[in-house]
Amino acid sequence: MQEAFVTLADIKAAHAAIKPHVLRTPTMRSDSLSEHCGVPVHLKLEHRQTTRAFKLRGATNALRQLSEADKQRGVAAASTGNHGRALAYAASLQGIRAIICMSSLVPANKVNEIRKLGADVRIIGNSQDDAQDEVNRLVVENGLVMVPPFDHPAIIAGQGTIGLEIVDDVPDVETVLVPLSGGGLIAGIAAAIKALKPKVRIIGLSMESGAAMHASLRAGHPVNVEEQASLADSLGGGIGLNNSLTFRMVRDLVDEIVLLTEDEIAAGIFHAYAKEREIIEGAAAVGIAALLAGKITLNGPVVALFSGRNIDMEQHRRIMAAHYSEAVPCPA
Ligand SMILES: *Cc1c(COP(=O)(O)O)cnc(C)c1O
Repeated sequence: MQEAFVTLADIKAAHAAIKPHVLRTPTMRSDSLSEHCGVPVHLKLEHRQTTRAFKLRGATNALRQLSEADKQRGVAAASTGNHGRALAYAASLQGIRAIICMSSLVPANKVNEIRKLGADVRIIGNSQDDAQDEVNRLVVENGLVMVPPFDHPAIIAGQGTIGLEIVDDVPDVETVLVPLSGGGLIAGIAAAIKALKPKVRIIGLSMESGAAMHASLRAGHPVNVEEQASLADSLGGGIGLNNSLTFRMVRDLVDEIVLLTEDEIAAGIFHAYAKEREIIEGAAAVGIAALLAGKITLNGPVVALFSGRNIDMEQHRRIMAAHYSEAVPCPA
């Protein structure tokens, strides 16, 4: 391993600090997947985290590291997704002002959900870039602190706390499956687990269409990819051409990246519901999708991380309907 960017000590400190503010989510053995794979398969049920995704861990840890003066001025981000929700919620708990900037294209229900969490929501322009411009302006003109979604040491350390819990719950784990987009989640988890158990394999999972980290590793430097619609919408977006941490951490710590088709992701969402009785979003389904598709060779116990459950319920209903109608009818 090369220089440690975010260390086990950072992650342990984050764990102690965020504990009172986040849920300690359980790990559950999956009988159906264990049978399918021939090795014990466990699911880390982080989709049950408050705000319905793991991002609360990083956001809570990032806020803890702000100075009192920064806390007075507040924080800003341009996310309509799980990071924006988490930051809005974590900031409101601590009485810190949060401004979440979104474009006018964001559906009203998403805007309202984040507003309900106590954030000051600003609708700016017609694209995510316009919303980000407003965040940059708030930083320069009003002194707000931007809290980025993944490429930040406090965010990585916060997400890495999941790795500590995985090792506690499944001490003989050999392979860990982690959804991968900007890489804050997997970088933190890999830093924690490789420090404790260097032989554990850490595998990143992304969708086939628009996997920015995968394309960047291939190129040897951060590159832009065309963003495409996917069931795993939380895995969309780039890693930033000026990426300073997660690109190198993923390159140095992650053993393999596996890409999933949309059909495979849908099958994962369906399996989670029908067999595990869990509602998860597409981004969270990539680990079990890879297991079901036989895309990963396994020798021992595996943990797959369910990262979130912010799926549009109408979309969920359609996926269930399609898969149930394909199933062989059962005699009464
Ligand atoms: C953000 C997110 C991811 C990916 O995390 P990165 O740190 O960007 O790799 C995976 N699943 C869900 C549900 C997310 O919200």
